[in-house]
Amino acid sequence: MSNSEQTLSIIKPDAVERNLSEEIKNEFKKNGFNIFKEKKVKLEKSEAEKFYQIHQSKPFYNDLCEYLSSGPIVVMVLEKENAIVENRKLMGATDPIKAEEGTIRKKYGISIDKNSVHGSDSSENAKTEINFFFKE
Ligand code: UDP
Ligand code: MG
Repeated sequence: MSNSEQTLSIIKPDAVERNLSEEIKNEFKKNGFNIFKEKKVKLEKSEAEKFYQIHQSKPFYNDLCEYLSSGPIVVMVLEKENAIVENRKLMGATDPIKAEEGTIRKKYGISIDKNSVHGSDSSENAKTEINFFFKE
């Protein structure tokens, strides 16, 4: 019996803008993730603020929300065994300079803010985030 888990992944505006969506999607597929759902959207700033409300007290909150709503993003539900932790590993550290060799952020990230991908960090947040974008 497989113990498949779901996580939310976002290809952020810096990567979509550089036409890296297909390449990044291939990274997920190559690493055994199934892209269960996928859509391209452009958020309003108010929507980005809601998505990132967990960070509302952080000094980078306003810039982060400006940035996430600055252009189209690709939102995906990824499936794999231990998808949440496995996706965080594949993404690498928040700051691309600190990310390990072979990770998506190491390969494609520009800076700590323009780091190309988002991934849910816990089972609770994965559910909330999947619901945010793919509410039935
Ligand atoms: N971020 C930033 N400056 C910082 C820390 C984070 O601009 O000093 C941005 C960055 O885009 C990051 C997002 O805020 O991906 C959310 O931060 P978090 O600490 O949750 O990092 P993540 O979970 O994305 O690795
Ligand atoms: Mg986070």
